Amino acid sequence: MSEELKKYRFTGDGKFNISSFDRADTGSFSGRDEAVDEFIANLHEINRLQQKLYAARREGVIFIFQAMDAAGKDGVIRTVFSTLSPHGVKEYCFKVPSSVEQSHDYLWRFWSALPAKGNISIFNRSYYEDVLVGRVHSLYKNQLWPKRLEDNDFISDRYSQIVNFEQYLYDTGTRVVKIFLNVSKEEQARRFISRIDTPKKNWKVSSGDMAERDYWDEYMDAFETMVNKTSTAHSPWYVVPADSKWYARLTVSRIVVETLREMAPEYPDVDEAEAKLFAENRAKLAAELGISDAPAEPAEKPKKEKKTKADKVFAKADSVTEDIIKDEEEGKIKKEKKSAKKASKAPADDDSGFDAVSVIAREAMS
Ligand code: ATP
Ligand code: MG
Repeated sequence: MSEELKKYRFTGDGKFNISSFDRADTGSFSGRDEAVDEFIANLHEINRLQQKLYAARREGVIFIFQAMDAAGKDGVIRTVFSTLSPHGVKEYCFKVPSSVEQSHDYLWRFWSALPAKGNISIFNRSYYEDVLVGRVHSLYKNQLWPKRLEDNDFISDRYSQIVNFEQYLYDTGTRVVKIFLNVSKEEQARRFISRIDTPKKNWKVSSGDMAERDYWDEYMDAFETMVNKTSTAHSPWYVVPADSKWYARLTVSRIVVETLREMAPEYPDVDEAEAKLFAENRAKLAAELGISDAPAEPAEKPKKEKKTKADKVFAKADSVTEDIIKDEEEGKIKKEKKSAKKASKAPADDDSGFDAVSVIAREAMS
């Protein structure tokens, strides 16, 4: 793991001090143009690792996102996970609990959102709300409790309950990685103004967000305590500087790459019985097509057809999700980075670099 990422990672050893955290940090980069190459490479790597994770079906992973309003959760999720195949990933947005949810314990609504082995769940807000907004407004007071629990310190109990819950998940095959997008109060004000001033962002304006802003200091205390009480080696918190959108996106892409690499998924091996069956099936199919039964030699070269512009565009898009899997060697990846960089600098109406990665990277790093 890079030193730059280690700085933001909390595993329960060091203490997180929110007042000394630099939310405008952009690490070793002086501008976004320097970060595009790495961002694109990370999106490719995330795609490649997800294919393996899904194929291996041994472990699931949850990426939790917590932040003050307008910190950029939605943009980070949209861009960093953009190269994932939809069948292996699901995003869950947890809002104010419904009356049914409130009539259960606070972890109840999360069970059905846990990922199957090989899958990724993205929690856009989570049970950590119960030690954030729940703590700031003492929401537990609005609920009825058994008499034996009435004097409980509900909030402080929750930290250890959450740690135990995440340990249970880890022990049973699901990792939990937590990401706090740490935006400054000034930057939040600028983004709220931009939402008011820009017609196509008006739908994001919320009076509730303004009301919560009045509790800024209480929220900061709650975030600091949350990180310090629930960071563990298996379930770390990453506190990400979020005043620069492109740096936050780059950092989260690094976190996802790092996590998936640590999980080290591999395509499952084919055992002897399967290999025998494969050979039999291959022979049958080859006979049906009237082609050679020797796998290594592609007997017939497909006829060369004239490619249309659309063919080329789709071929390029496919290369992001398929060809890259085959081309693991470093040199090839470097070449791709170079051409993707060229594409990322192309004007918006130029479809010469029309694959998911360059489109997203171009937007994400702006
Ligand atoms: P966006 O504003 O970008 O659409 P959002 O996550 O802010 O995304 P909103 O619908 O605006 O979505 O807000 C969700 C609200 O739900 C937040 O204010 C959050 O604090 C609240 N919430 C989530 N979980 C709980 C909980 N357990 N108890 C009370 N409030 C909760
Ligand atoms: Mg909101």
